[in-house]
Amino acid sequence: MPAHHPAPERLLDYAAGSLHEVQALLVASHLAYCPACRAQVAEMEACGGVLLEDLPPEPVSDALFGALMTRLGEAAASPPPAPAPSSGGLFPGPLRRAIGAEPEALDWVRVVPGVHLSTWAIGAGTASACLLRMAPRARVPAHRHTDSEMLLVMTGGFSDEFGAYRVGDVASYDTGTPHHAVADADGECLCLLVQDRPLVFTGPLGWLLNRGFRF
Ligand SMILES: [Zn+2]
Repeated sequence: MPAHHPAPERLLDYAAGSLHEVQALLVASHLAYCPACRAQVAEMEACGGVLLEDLPPEPVSDALFGALMTRLGEAAASPPPAPAPSSGGLFPGPLRRAIGAEPEALDWVRVVPGVHLSTWAIGAGTASACLLRMAPRARVPAHRHTDSEMLLVMTGGFSDEFGAYRVGDVASYDTGTPHHAVADADGECLCLLVQDRPLVFTGPLGWLLNRGFRF
């Protein structure tokens, strides 16, 4: 069971279908690991459906309000959907469908020693996604963002100033939050990286690193 989840408003936007497709891909991939968030999203979707069906244009009577609450209760009690089917590959189902390949078939660009980004990337303009691969103990240089970033761990783990992240966990960074990740010592760490803007690296290597980022 993952310990770090997408922010509740991200789950709500996902359930409402209003999340950017790139961020929705990360949330859908997290759901493949996380029964707790699957249950929450199922509940939100059920509530949304009930409200759309039953919300009248006039003030709600006590009787209708009671009926609505009963249906919300039933919706909340219904079991969450089964996890996305997996063929046993490394990627969660939604991501595997988006990429159409497993990691060994992808090409990678070295950012700094031990840290690679996939040449596979999707999204443009307001959001983009690619894969981040870190060798054991590799460090991603300190950087900050002009907008937010999310990382989903798919193999291994990493730590930063805010916590330790394992398979299925989502790390979320708000605009301008400086942070740096260090991969766990016991194996390679593979993440799905989603960002709202291109990265801005701080420090002396910044210019060089930015030359390597092409989404
Ligand atoms: Zn979760």
